[in-house]
Amino acid sequence: MKKKVTKELDVCDWCNTDEPVYNKCSICGKHACYDHKKEYMTEFPHAVCFSGTGDGTYCNECLLKHPPDELRLAYLEIQRLREEQKQYYKDFERRSKLAEERVKELLAARRESK
Ligand SMILES: [Zn+2]
Ligand SMILES: [Zn+2]
Repeated sequence: MKKKVTKELDVCDWCNTDEPVYNKCSICGKHACYDHKKEYMTEFPHAVCFSGTGDGTYCNECLLKHPPDELRLAYLEIQRLREEQKQYYKDFERRSKLAEERVKELLAARRESK
């Protein structure tokens, strides 16, 4: 059976194609497609180790125009912790490599002296 239906879709406010989109600014309600989200929006994960339902999406214009409310401050704290975690692992990796190199060197030196 074929049926014509009229549906209301959220479409990208930037390119206005007929494709439905799901990225919506939490402040002004503008919608963006994948490409325009990358260009004009910022996403804030809701958790330090994962993202998904509960992430915040804001268009960059609103981020500039409106001072952060409590929710955005909470998102920013998550963002800061994520950055801290990244730095920690970077440093951890660096120190691990140094320690491993040191063991390798010492083992090689022992082998040579025998
Ligand atoms: Zn678009
Ligand atoms: Zn907006």
